[in-house]
Amino acid sequence: MIYVPSRMGQLNRRALLRQLQKMGVASRAELAKALGMSQPTAGKIVDELIAMDVLEETTESSAGNLDVASQLGRPGRKLQLNRSRPKFIGLQLGLKTTTVVDLTLGAAAEDRWPVSFDVTSADANPAKAWERKLLQSAKALGGKDYLGVILSVPGLVDEAANRLLFSPNIHWTEKTDMAAIVRRAWNVPVLLVQEERALALGHHLANPDCDNFLLVDFGEGVGGAIIVEGKPLFNPLPISGEIGHTPVPGNRRPCGCGAVGCMETLISLRGLLESFAAAAPGTEHSWTALSSYIAAHGVKPWLAEALDAAAAAIAGSLNVLGLRRVVITGSLTELPPVVLEYLSHAVQSGAMWARFGQVECVSAPRRRNAGMVAVGINRLLVPDVREKRPAPAKAARSKAAPRAR
Ligand SMILES: [Zn+2]
Repeated sequence: MIYVPSRMGQLNRRALLRQLQKMGVASRAELAKALGMSQPTAGKIVDELIAMDVLEETTESSAGNLDVASQLGRPGRKLQLNRSRPKFIGLQLGLKTTTVVDLTLGAAAEDRWPVSFDVTSADANPAKAWERKLLQSAKALGGKDYLGVILSVPGLVDEAANRLLFSPNIHWTEKTDMAAIVRRAWNVPVLLVQEERALALGHHLANPDCDNFLLVDFGEGVGGAIIVEGKPLFNPLPISGEIGHTPVPGNRRPCGCGAVGCMETLISLRGLLESFAAAAPGTEHSWTALSSYIAAHGVKPWLAEALDAAAAAIAGSLNVLGLRRVVITGSLTELPPVVLEYLSHAVQSGAMWARFGQVECVSAPRRRNAGMVAVGINRLLVPDVREKRPAPAKAARSKAAPRAR
């Protein structure tokens, strides 16, 4: 295969950045060795990336690398992704709260959101209110020379067209050009990314050896994302991981998507609190109270029903996708361990692989900051010029997305 030099250069840059993300801190020689590159080639890429403020030299050594350094008798200059200057803005759009962070390329493993503001559908003009508060946030964060803004959104996102098609729980965003508003606050490229996809990318970065999994996040809704061989699974339509909208027989709760009986109406934050209020009237119905209630009473039948519904959808996905690992993030991980134990057991009994192999159901922290940086690096800093983007979904555009009635 013949590569034009610029593409080869870009591939090498990508590979080197990816390797450094895995290793955390490494010397030029260690990077060259890990990548099978000559030292001059690796050194040249490193110098270019330092000039671009993408990498920086550090005196810090990772534990594994200390041995190598001491064997060589000199520490050598180590490299890391730049942690001194923020390069991206990360925005997380929630049902009510939007959170904002300035991100360095070597973002910390734990999420942080220094700025936040609230806008609800009850606002007379939510899009205008969102814009006004976003402008204030941009001022509060300050900074400059950002390469782009990564906007994490729930719902159906056409990432190629940079457009939100359908947002079951925040309908006002469907009629709004969110990217255009963001550009008025920071005049740089804006990328929309589906929120669970960002979480899955972040989880993969923090656990590079975990490269085939289904991530399911529980919160205001329930959504999933699939990573296969270290990459988000490609889907022909701009819809993926909408596990929360699996119908549950006998469930009559209306869902924001317009259907009745979706699984997330039972097990989202609101869904669980609604069931809790019905099962234990006369007590306080906060999330903390629910947690204490479960600690005292275990998994009551109403909670078991909700967990069984989630597990059935998860097990069905594993059976179809050919995966054996589920990563659970979000609100369920905040409840007593008995909840995830129950869920894990129910997933095992529905997953065919568990009959003769091992199915893993693990909980993990949300790492959306890291996932956003991964999106920024892959799509803005070192985009793969050959990478095929799905064509904008014309059918979905011309007929408009399905609406709740
Ligand atoms: Zn639904």
